Amino acid sequence: MNPVDTLAELFKEFPGIGPRQAKRFVYYLMTRSTAHLEELAARITELKKNISTCTECYRFFTKNNVPSPLCSICKSSNRDKETLMVVSRDVDLDTIEKSHSFNGTYFVLGGTVPILEKNPETKIRLRELTNTITAKAKHGLKEVILAMNATSDGDNTVHFLEQQLAPLAEKHSLRISTLGRGISTGTELEYSDSETIKNALKNRG
Ligand SMILES: [Zn+2]
Repeated sequence: MNPVDTLAELFKEFPGIGPRQAKRFVYYLMTRSTAHLEELAARITELKKNISTCTECYRFFTKNNVPSPLCSICKSSNRDKETLMVVSRDVDLDTIEKSHSFNGTYFVLGGTVPILEKNPETKIRLRELTNTITAKAKHGLKEVILAMNATSDGDNTVHFLEQQLAPLAEKHSLRISTLGRGISTGTELEYSDSETIKNALKNRG
């Protein structure tokens, strides 16, 4: 394979990128200076070195040369420990944080459960989630909010989690809630504005 196709194949693995867009990225890079490409390559290499996964919520965070197993949200004493919000991806967490409508802690599932999926537990961090909930239940956790996209995969993930978490919820008297449908059907959380998120949280059920 020639270098253009090799690189395009790699870009094709990016979320939401098709073969034509992947090729466009490669041709774009070819118009840039060698210095720019070296800078880009160095930044990509650095990314992995400076980023850690939080051992409590599983979000990515920048280490800033301070070794810590926990991210700034999990470490903070100003966050409300009674509510845990479960999101699919880091980008959803970022959107909720930007809306300033939630002051609890998070858990990043790392994916969704597609409809008819035969092995749902391989698609998300289910075991890690139950461990986190069990640990947090001992420290005042009262509610788990399932904040998924208003898509069929999001709905399916909610149903799956509701079933899986039911025994745990009963054992620790936890409320399992979902976002109110201020978010219209088909909308991804990532693209919802702050006002919509605020309302969806207020109207959760
Ligand atoms: Zn964390």
